Amino acid sequence: MSRDVDGLLAYASTKVMDRARQLQGAVGTRTQGGDTLRARVQGSERAPYRVAVDLGRGMWTCSCPDEHNAMCKHVCATLLVYRTAPATFMPAAPARRLPNIQGWADADVERLLERVLQYHPAVARDWARVVNEDDAADEEEGW
Ligand SMILES: [Zn+2]
Repeated sequence: MSRDVDGLLAYASTKVMDRARQLQGAVGTRTQGGDTLRARVQGSERAPYRVAVDLGRGMWTCSCPDEHNAMCKHVCATLLVYRTAPATFMPAAPARRLPNIQGWADADVERLLERVLQYHPAVARDWARVVNEDDAADEEEGW
């Protein structure tokens, strides 16, 4: 695993690596699920940036506005912390299933949500606002 981490760190420029070293203390909530690392890294904005790294596929993503074709300092800092202290990444919670409404299958709940979106878009807009405000709390980011 550490070989993968070193391989990925090779994508960081010297400048990014230098800044990431100073940023390691800002790497907050950390989880690992399979090959996927996730972390929240406090940057210049109020809400921490969300970092995800797929060690198996050699892919990464970060919610910061930096160029995404290069590795940003948040991803780099996350990898540095992982290389030094992998045990500080807690096991990720299993993927959540849709709420079981009266025994409905997931597909039916999905159809219900599509209808809500179709007939009551204001509900979805309002919910999007709530999710954005809670973002730093518990929203998990997909790829
Ligand atoms: Zn970033």
